[in-house]
Amino acid sequence: MSPIAKNLQGINARCDAAIAGRKALGIATAPVTLVAVSKTKPLADVFAAAAAGQRHFGENYVQEAAAKIAAARQSAAGEQPLVWHLIGPLQSNKAKLAAQSFDWVQTIDRKKIAEHLSQHRTALGLTPLNVLVQVNVSGEASKSGVHLDDVDTLARDVHSMPGLRLRGLMSIVENTSEEAALRAQFQTMYRLYARLASSLTDAPIDTLSMGMSGDFEIAIREGATMVRVGSLIFGSRARVPGHDESRRSEPDHGTGSTVLA
Ligand SMILES: *Cc1c(COP(=O)(O)O)cnc(C)c1O
Repeated sequence: MSPIAKNLQGINARCDAAIAGRKALGIATAPVTLVAVSKTKPLADVFAAAAAGQRHFGENYVQEAAAKIAAARQSAAGEQPLVWHLIGPLQSNKAKLAAQSFDWVQTIDRKKIAEHLSQHRTALGLTPLNVLVQVNVSGEASKSGVHLDDVDTLARDVHSMPGLRLRGLMSIVENTSEEAALRAQFQTMYRLYARLASSLTDAPIDTLSMGMSGDFEIAIREGATMVRVGSLIFGSRARVPGHDESRRSEPDHGTGSTVLA
């Protein structure tokens, strides 16, 4: 078994145990989708994970991802297709590339970018793009995402766009080891998510994306239906010049081909 397959096996077991630990919630048995975050990692790592049964992959940088996604689609023709999620900030000038490359965009934080994605998706003749509204639940100035008070308005706008399919909410919580602070933010997200699902009854709201390598079990116990795990699967990431994961917008950094080399 490859190291990546072994890591996935361990994480899936931990997800199952965490699901069993959330009995008290209304979504006690809702399944959890594991998104393997493959940003900065070579296509070979994606294939190793796919060979172990992993289907959902997350990427942060549109150009790097578009190259990987195209290569993966070509070489995996005929097999179970992979599902690609954009989990990094999106600029308008990359909306078209994102609309044609990704199956999901988890980082909708303003109406304008949603409109761009919807228009491109429709013009390309593709099925509606699955999207999540990103919420800045910690309120940190450095974080992307809408303010808690603006979630419902943006969600309603997104839901009305023909090229998009609103599936729920996403958040990157504060980077802290304080479990109480993490728990409080996950609980706030769960409340927002439950409220959204009960107010937008004609939308297919089924996804609350929160939790990463350091806190995915806590996130699941507090109601996450999707977790985004990178370093625990693929190992730690080397810092890529120009890539700062905490930035609000994606810096321009060339074609992304160097990452694949
Ligand atoms: C990088 C990233 C992850 C994965 O982080 P790990 O700590 O490596 O699991 C999850 N979500 C987002 C939005 C990211 O940018």
